[in-house]
Amino acid sequence: MEKILFLACTQEDGVLPKAALETLTAAADLAAAVQAPLAVGLIGENVQAAADAIAACGAQEFCAVTGEDFASSRYASDAAAAEALVRKTSATLVLAPALSRLAKALPGVALRLDGRIETHVCAVDGALNIQRWYYRQRMIATLTRSQRPWFLLIDPGVFKPWEGQAASVMVEPVAVTLPESARRTRFVGFEAPPADAQTIRPEAELLFVAGAGWTKKQADGQPHVKVAEKLIHDFITKAKASLGSSKSLVDQTSEGGEVISLLSHLNQVGQTGATPRHPKGLATCCHGEEPHTVGWRFINKRRAVNLDANCGWAIGKADVLYVADAFQVVAKVNELLGD
Ligand SMILES: Cc1cc2nc3c(=O)[nH]c(=O)nc-3n(C[C@H](O)[C@H](O)[C@H](O)COP(=O)(O)OP(=O)(O)OC[C@H]3O[C@@H](n4cnc5c(N)ncnc54)[C@H](O)[C@@H]3O)c2cc1C
Repeated sequence: MEKILFLACTQEDGVLPKAALETLTAAADLAAAVQAPLAVGLIGENVQAAADAIAACGAQEFCAVTGEDFASSRYASDAAAAEALVRKTSATLVLAPALSRLAKALPGVALRLDGRIETHVCAVDGALNIQRWYYRQRMIATLTRSQRPWFLLIDPGVFKPWEGQAASVMVEPVAVTLPESARRTRFVGFEAPPADAQTIRPEAELLFVAGAGWTKKQADGQPHVKVAEKLIHDFITKAKASLGSSKSLVDQTSEGGEVISLLSHLNQVGQTGATPRHPKGLATCCHGEEPHTVGWRFINKRRAVNLDANCGWAIGKADVLYVADAFQVVAKVNELLGD
């Protein structure tokens, strides 16, 4: 008989992040499909509010490792807490969101418990088959394992966030005594970029991709990088879009010359970059070559603006290609979007 544990860490504000609620949907659906009991295991400074918020998820058991030592990300304490929760619940299947804290800690926990772990899981079914992508979303694998406990790190953006009535629940504390060696790493704070420099917005409706064409010589024989930067900045601000880039454009930061200052390698989409999930994507001044568009696997509706009617987007990579000057198109769109 399987036993399922939904494992998650609370955020700074004491609630569960969206990705954790998505994993809870996967865990609750799986528990129903295999008719196995569901337990909730939480890690955080104080988890009562988070537990109350998911009271109706169908779990028979709520337990937690809490306290100041478990407030923020640290491999040693997170691994100790997760290990204690898996032992306490005797779970055979452990589902956790693939966020940095548990993605970092759980592989070690799987080893300690002689279990196995799968990362980037994007589907789980009642026959206990899971799916994950390989080789930058080019191949999908379906696999299962007999070894237990089996840890599944669920990718964000795949399942619907769990929703339900809040109620007051009894959370059983699980004591973990950390040795001094597990406290050597100290969390000193977050370093966040200023709000207007925050160009990567995973929750945005639209991904706006800027390609190297923005910095190339234009019809008048001159590049217009500052104009491009302002057009891109205004568009992503007005449309509340997330900013992606081609590799060629972000590589220019290390090649000297004038660059679009909004971009870093973190914005790069593609084979050696990110594979973001957004309902819509708009590529501008980007050729749409395969190593770039492979990062668009999870972008549902795709449009591109390119001067070249034979660019990669025209050969099946986009739903709509506007053969046009992106400087003119984006300036007009910004005007239409208003202030
Ligand atoms: C192993 C490997 C891994 C790679 N990984 C990645 C990756 O992760 N991500 C990635 O992006 N690339 C990756 N690449 C590189 C990829 O093959 C392309 O070289 C890169 O995506 C090209 O970037 P680009 O389309 O912005 O630039 P370009 O190919 O230079 O295209 C610029 C485009 O802008 C258009 N243009 C110019 N001016 C305008 C205008 N005014 N209006 C409209 N259009 C205009 C031009 O017509 C042209 O199509 C990888 C390559 C290799 C070999």
